[in-house]
Amino acid sequence: MNQYEAPLADFSFLLFDVMQAHQTYSGLAGYEEFSPDLAEAVLSEMAKFASGVLLPANAEGDQQGCRYDAATHTVTAPQAYQQPFQQFVANGWPSLTAPTEYGGQGLPKILGVAFDEMCAATNTSLSMYFGLTHGAIVALEQHASEVLKSQYLEKLIAGQWTGTMCLTEPQCGTDLGLIKTRAEPQPDQHNTYRINGAKIWITGGEHDLAENIIHLVLAKLPDAPAGTKGISLFLVPKWLTNGERNGIYCSGLEHKMGINGSATCFMNLENAEGYLIGEPHQGLRYMFSMMNSARLMVGVQGLGLGHAAYQTALGFARERIQGRSVAGIQEPDKPADTILVHPDVRRMLLTQKALVEGGRALAMWVGLQLDISERSKDDTAREQASDLVELLTPVVKAHLTDTGYHICDQAVQTLGGSGYTRDWGIEQLLRDCRISRIYEGTNGIQALDFVGRKLPMGGGRAVKALLTELSGMLTSITEPQVQQPLQKALAQLQDALGWLTQHGLQDREQAAAAATPLLKLFGIAVQGFLLARNAQVAEDLMANGDERPVLRSKSKTRDVYLREILPEMQALTQTIKAGKDHLMAFSAEEF
Ligand SMILES: Cc1cc2nc3c(=O)[nH]c(=O)nc-3n(C[C@H](O)[C@H](O)[C@H](O)COP(=O)(O)OP(=O)(O)OC[C@H]3O[C@@H](n4cnc5c(N)ncnc54)[C@H](O)[C@@H]3O)c2cc1C
Repeated sequence: MNQYEAPLADFSFLLFDVMQAHQTYSGLAGYEEFSPDLAEAVLSEMAKFASGVLLPANAEGDQQGCRYDAATHTVTAPQAYQQPFQQFVANGWPSLTAPTEYGGQGLPKILGVAFDEMCAATNTSLSMYFGLTHGAIVALEQHASEVLKSQYLEKLIAGQWTGTMCLTEPQCGTDLGLIKTRAEPQPDQHNTYRINGAKIWITGGEHDLAENIIHLVLAKLPDAPAGTKGISLFLVPKWLTNGERNGIYCSGLEHKMGINGSATCFMNLENAEGYLIGEPHQGLRYMFSMMNSARLMVGVQGLGLGHAAYQTALGFARERIQGRSVAGIQEPDKPADTILVHPDVRRMLLTQKALVEGGRALAMWVGLQLDISERSKDDTAREQASDLVELLTPVVKAHLTDTGYHICDQAVQTLGGSGYTRDWGIEQLLRDCRISRIYEGTNGIQALDFVGRKLPMGGGRAVKALLTELSGMLTSITEPQVQQPLQKALAQLQDALGWLTQHGLQDREQAAAAATPLLKLFGIAVQGFLLARNAQVAEDLMANGDERPVLRSKSKTRDVYLREILPEMQALTQTIKAGKDHLMAFSAEEF
């Protein structure tokens, strides 16, 4: 892909027409000045940066990859990234939504969601160096001592230093209770520990782009209880404040399917000096605050990559001529019609468009709830928004990466053989997107989190609030051909929840078997409602004489979604209700 058009008009539409952000933000502490002018100015600078600086380095970075030097344990990031990385920092992008007391710009998180989408669309690998830094900032901000905050936050926020998150070890990925890395307290040194162990697949674990790397490491103390309750979180800098090199080294790089410009490192900790963050044995809880922010970012990665792929596919389909329309010749002066005349190609493209717009509506809605949950002056509003963020974070992570990958795949298909070769850059998008369904907790684990923790939260308080929100969206819709499928979708959600209550509470294996289709059911339904709301707002605006092009196809996009995608809920409901028996009937030998 060598061109990217940021969805600025769609961002503005969602923010100020659909979600009426100027009204909401005027009541959020510290965000009172957030206005359409401010948002549009920032979004348009982001778009210039993404297409002018990040995009040109994307394909080159993929081909150059990262290089490891065993003699010095150093990693050289792609040469193509050096300049864009420095510009990223110089332009102040890493500090966009960070707190002002540590040098951040304190802008609403919803702008961060839009920025993450543009970064992912134009250069996922390069943005990963900052993406995980953001997660580290969140964890430190919420849980570290004032001393650690004052030593580390400012430079991380400025982008001078980058951060990592060191969880995974050779014997444990999903099951962090199996962690072997050990931390020994140092006598007479308050909160200082010596850490030993090995971590694998650490994103940005070593590279030459920033002056220092601040690792957040999960390890166990000598007196740790067994399992996940015994994990503590430590800050382990590559360079100590006295200028000495700390004992955390890269011992190799992973060779992988995509995100080749992102350094995925094996890390050894050899008597590394580390500082305890917060209380002992609370590490996993702290890491979750980092992971929640990272999970939203990864979900949006799927969306951004999907949008980039759709743009490429659309550009191709407008030019490529093959065959004639079955309805009769459309372009008689050419030897064939463009492939855009074929219903099958249209289905592929419009499915991509509907999933992109639905995904963006979902991500921005959750971004709005995140800001309300942190800054509303009203306790009830804060609690409700926080519930929705908690509930929908695994949905954003899993559903947007699943659909993002599906969009990339459909986009490759739209290009035929040209999609599979390198020329159009779309195979890179597909490769880069694949990991988003695995890291930050696989999508299967997101589904278990959704079903096991998020749905039962507060006795089902969050899911009830969501269903009320969705019903509320229905009230403004008058057309029966829109209302009926959405009412059916709402009934299917309730039906599936009923089944879960009946079978999943007494048999957790039933709930686990239902988890993935259930998360998908919610992802599909929520996007359907949000697209219907978009269409309703667009129709009302157009009826009042608004002629913006972004409004024109909202109703048609909703209709594509309601006819091509929403019906999948029927099959998913059946799968959920089929329960676990057919899955658990196999013995290990029978597979
Ligand atoms: C490119 C890349 C970058 C990464 N970056 C980082 C990083 O920066 N920091 C870091 O710490 N880690 C990182 N990871 C690791 C990543 O987070 C893990 O790969 C991921 O959490 C899954 O763990 P695993 O690969 O060990 O899979 P496993 O845990 O072995 O899982 C294998 C399969 O079994 C399923 N499964 C496992 N347990 C259960 C269960 N209880 N119930 C149902 N299904 C289950 C999983 O969903 C999966 O499908 C990275 C990985 C890659 C490939």
